[in-house]
Amino acid sequence: MRMRRRKVEEGIRPRESTKDWAKVIWYKGAVPKQAFHMWIANYDRMPTRVRLASWGMLISTHCCLCSQFPEDRDHLLLTCEYSVVIWKWALLRLRPSGRLFCNWQELLSWLKSDTLQAPATLRCLVAHATIYHLWKQRNNVLFNSTHIPPESIIKCIDRDIRNTIHARNRRKRFLNYLPLWSH
Ligand SMILES: [Zn+2]
Repeated sequence: MRMRRRKVEEGIRPRESTKDWAKVIWYKGAVPKQAFHMWIANYDRMPTRVRLASWGMLISTHCCLCSQFPEDRDHLLLTCEYSVVIWKWALLRLRPSGRLFCNWQELLSWLKSDTLQAPATLRCLVAHATIYHLWKQRNNVLFNSTHIPPESIIKCIDRDIRNTIHARNRRKRFLNYLPLWSH
């Protein structure tokens, strides 16, 4: 029975492809709701306007955050001018000479890297919070017409990251993250 279940699971999530990204999504200490968003985003299953239009919905495909480019995952979460302000701030905190991401694969590669200044788990924590808040703000614009400057989102992300680190201070490696994040 156990063998059979494992085969079914492998059919749904092939091992080789899962191995590639699972560690950066379901890492130890992840915030469940943020990891879930990251998982959906990784599969490119978020209902962005480009995807909604591809299903036949008669809507504008323009990005909710900048109104200039088609709203697909990589634009909305990585290359939109609104998102770029937030990523620049996050990357400066973690690695002063880092460059921005052009596509999802570049983000995944960055998340899998590990340096003393920016350990992999801290990178994941920051990326999860950023992706979560960007999607939340996109929905805020779409459903509530609430426009908030990126600087306010940055404050929310910063607070979230600090709270997450504090809440996990019994895990040895999280103890080092606050000075790395707050420098
Ligand atoms: Zn945009």
